[in-house]
Amino acid sequence: MKSALIARPDILALKPYQAGEQVSGAIRLNANEAPIAAWDDANPASLNRYPEARPFTLQNRLSALFAVAPEHLLVTRGSSEAIDVLIRSFCHAYRDAVITAPPTFEMYRVYAEIQGVEMIEVPLDDKSDFSLDPEGLLKACTERTKLIFLCSPNNPTGSLVKEADVRDIAGSRRGKSIVVIDEAYVEFSGNASLSRLVGDFDNLVVLRTLSKAHGLAGARCGVAIACADLIGVMGRVLPPYTFPTPVVDTVMAALEDDRIARSTAAIAEIVSERQRVSAALRTLGAVDKVWPSAANFILVRFRNLVATTAFLQAKNILIRDFSSYPMLDNCARITIGTRAENDALLQALATSEEQSP
Ligand code: PMP
Repeated sequence: MKSALIARPDILALKPYQAGEQVSGAIRLNANEAPIAAWDDANPASLNRYPEARPFTLQNRLSALFAVAPEHLLVTRGSSEAIDVLIRSFCHAYRDAVITAPPTFEMYRVYAEIQGVEMIEVPLDDKSDFSLDPEGLLKACTERTKLIFLCSPNNPTGSLVKEADVRDIAGSRRGKSIVVIDEAYVEFSGNASLSRLVGDFDNLVVLRTLSKAHGLAGARCGVAIACADLIGVMGRVLPPYTFPTPVVDTVMAALEDDRIARSTAAIAEIVSERQRVSAALRTLGAVDKVWPSAANFILVRFRNLVATTAFLQAKNILIRDFSSYPMLDNCARITIGTRAENDALLQALATSEEQSP
């Protein structure tokens, strides 16, 4: 069976909203828009008109950026929105289930709970730097398992999922479950995106975002990459007109070649700082363990996280406490900042050691 057909039958049967036609140069009396702008000046231009129902200009630009055909790509408000759309497209409330591999990104759980979907957890293996348990994951699948969320590099552990495992899981679950690979941080890993596999697996969705490596978290722009059938299903659920005109304009400008060159340089700098900060943290007595990371953050176990975060907070430095998560006792996630910000962190931690008895 085609994997797109495991979507909710009511979504497959849904008649999508027909947006009013937009023809350049035409007299537009078909969308109940204001005929004149609220601003006298031309800036911001044309806000009296709806944006495109789908941001086609942006879709074409992102298809070049992520090296996939435009019909394999759905533009969403951050990759978070793609997670929500996937769950609502494929999971019946109070019937279907999703699988996650914790500790991982919280929003899979949040959107699953909002939709009334059961979450089955197959934990990563903390004895082997949080590697995936592919056999355990396949064993946990039932006929109600519609989505499997894998995050690579994983937030907050920084660990990677092996391509061979993704191929095995997607191959075994073809026609039964959609496998979602969240690659929000892939640019920092040095690995190629698994989006090149969407032609081979009709049940694979790859999530990418402009929020991390491209420095555009404020613009809220991400994509789901998949075969055209899956993109078609998700497109039934994603509302029209989600991308405001100023956001499209800003993102298009931010993706000019010179700016891409800047983010490429910034990625190299973050990767080099990740090495430097990890090595420096390993020399500190307050630090128990620093995990290897393929992302723009590091997972660190402190000897006394409460004391360390309180000390850092007093110095106006914030790190993220993950100690309430299973397996992450005394652990925090530290984002790699600028060289100066990283120095401030390392200096503060060194000072805290001098001051502790
Ligand atoms: N996936 C992962 C693993 C993340 O860590 C995040 C953000 N923290 C997202 C997706 C969502 O990012 P955005 O919605 O900004 O694209």
